[in-house]
Amino acid sequence: MPVGGNSGWVHSANPVPAVVGVVGAGTMGAGIAQVAVTSGARVVLFDVEPRVLERAVAGLTDRLQRSVEKGQRTAEDAASCLERLSTTTELSDLAAAELVVEAVPEKLELKRRVFAQLEAICPPSAVLASNTSSLPISVLGAGLTHAERVVGMHFFNPAPVMRLVEVVAGEDTDPAVVERVREIVAAFGKQAIVCQDTPGFIVNRVARNFYGEALRIVGEGTADVSQVDELLQGAAGFRMGPFELMDLIGIDVNYDVTQSVYAAFHQEPRFRPHPLQARKVAAGQLGRKTGRGFYRYDGGVRVSNASPDRPVAGPSSAGQGAGTRATATASVDTPGVSVQAAQRWTAYPPVVVGDTPLANALRARIATVWNRPPADCGLAFAQPQPHWDETGKQWRAEEVEAFLRAHPSRVVMVSVAGDETAHRQILQAVERAVARDAVLLTSVAGPSTSRQAAWLTEPKRLRGFSIVLRADGTLPGTSLGEPLAEWFRPVQAIRAGGATEATLDAVDEACVSALAALGFAPRLLRDGPGGVALRILSMVLNEAQVVLHEGTATAADIDLGMRLGTNYPAGPVEWLNGIGPVSVWYALSALQRELGDARYQPSPGLTAAAWYRPTKTGGEEC
Ligand code: NAD
Repeated sequence: MPVGGNSGWVHSANPVPAVVGVVGAGTMGAGIAQVAVTSGARVVLFDVEPRVLERAVAGLTDRLQRSVEKGQRTAEDAASCLERLSTTTELSDLAAAELVVEAVPEKLELKRRVFAQLEAICPPSAVLASNTSSLPISVLGAGLTHAERVVGMHFFNPAPVMRLVEVVAGEDTDPAVVERVREIVAAFGKQAIVCQDTPGFIVNRVARNFYGEALRIVGEGTADVSQVDELLQGAAGFRMGPFELMDLIGIDVNYDVTQSVYAAFHQEPRFRPHPLQARKVAAGQLGRKTGRGFYRYDGGVRVSNASPDRPVAGPSSAGQGAGTRATATASVDTPGVSVQAAQRWTAYPPVVVGDTPLANALRARIATVWNRPPADCGLAFAQPQPHWDETGKQWRAEEVEAFLRAHPSRVVMVSVAGDETAHRQILQAVERAVARDAVLLTSVAGPSTSRQAAWLTEPKRLRGFSIVLRADGTLPGTSLGEPLAEWFRPVQAIRAGGATEATLDAVDEACVSALAALGFAPRLLRDGPGGVALRILSMVLNEAQVVLHEGTATAADIDLGMRLGTNYPAGPVEWLNGIGPVSVWYALSALQRELGDARYQPSPGLTAAAWYRPTKTGGEEC
């Protein structure tokens, strides 16, 4: 039985609608028709172009045939799917549909016209859904007599394969229609996530800065295209880097979505498109489909490993290449570091100062690698960080000095987040407490290495590092292969020869050896707040908090959407908790301060996640 009248959308015993209409038989329409017909619905597929309809049926027949050959369905099943499918160039043939999914080109006026025609043809009990990627559902429904049955049903490409469907509620959409569509999506064997009608919905919006921030990093010369791609995979666990993914999607398609979200948010700086992408589009270098994008392709196969038209900016590849996992006594096969040098440094376990999740994870790894009691591996502050409290800061500095005098080490790793003054005082306390030849390694989940080096009497003994924690707050592990860690020289330590100086000095060796001994392949990058992988990820995590905070979607749906819609290794809400909201907040605050760009302003949602916790009485406290 179809959904009921305007006052209540009755769910049927069989959740698959008896008849589904699909308007537009292009890439998405043909895929959606396949999803519906293989779920048991009768499908009426409409297009203005008879040739398109023929192509859609031929494609569907082919795919069904292949699934028979693979043993995924019987020949009878495939035949009955085709029997249930009919095509038409008469929109009135959709009159019996309980659900109509519109998949015509992404043009507002065209889609509005289609909805007005559908309203005249379909009874008020029919659900009218749009597969739009970017147009507001509320606008598609505006002016219709029964806008309460207009809803977004955003399938991903290819629709038969991708499990996710975003169900979008317009301002007038009846919540019961949303529920009914959720039920239909489940009956189609897909996973629905529900969101309010905001530009880009969940997935395209939260994903924007996976690309946008990567473009910015390349544009400013911090890293090149292949370095960014390598780090997003090797350090953060993404299946593909942003540039190879843009090449796959089509740089023009990606740019269109970016522009549309930027315009829809009225030039919000977080969504600002980047000239590098605009230039690629203008030059017709659109990715795989044109044989050239950020990489070059021959017959669909990538032939260049680095951006062909962008010099490798920043530092040299010193310290790059896979280092062999090291133990405290094993050799470290890291280019640029001799075995003797590595042994010199890794003979002494590093100690860690700080109370971030990264500091905790490093302490645990040191305890395992060097087989030491965790309490000797570093100092975790005994109190939660009172970041505005001068007494707390003073107390912390004293505690750091006392610990390091009791646990002398030649390598001290620092990971502090929250308040820059407290951070400075702690780093200065570390410097006061250690021997003259000790090396300090500091996390750049916050200020750049150079900014932190300026706080020290001997800035040349400082190196920065960045490691991306997994969603469970642990260091990336052995099962993923050897993960990458980034390291940085402060500008104060760059010798004659400039930022591309390849020879490692003793401080570099200590840094590279320590990271290798902890299980990482170190990568040298140009210094900057937040590093590279964590900076991109922080922008993504911040956007997820905006979506959550404004009530566009639930945490569970955001996480599910990003895992299923874009193959992220973890949902951005759970990942924020693993890395630590204060660390992400601190990294973005440092980016905003050092780069002077409002796009890095931590969102109110992120600030709340970092600094405010619900009290037992329901209020908020820090
Ligand atoms: P497409 O160009 O492949 O197909 C559009 C089809 O609509 C064409 O066959 C065209 O003949 C037909 N058409 C044009 N005017 C029509 C009309 N008045 N009535 C009926 N049919 C008409 O486009 P697509 O990639 O399938 O995209 C369709 C919709 O799906 C767009 O809103 C797009 O934003 C959205 N979408 C696309 C993707 C994707 O990756 N392609 C992913 C998700 C959502």
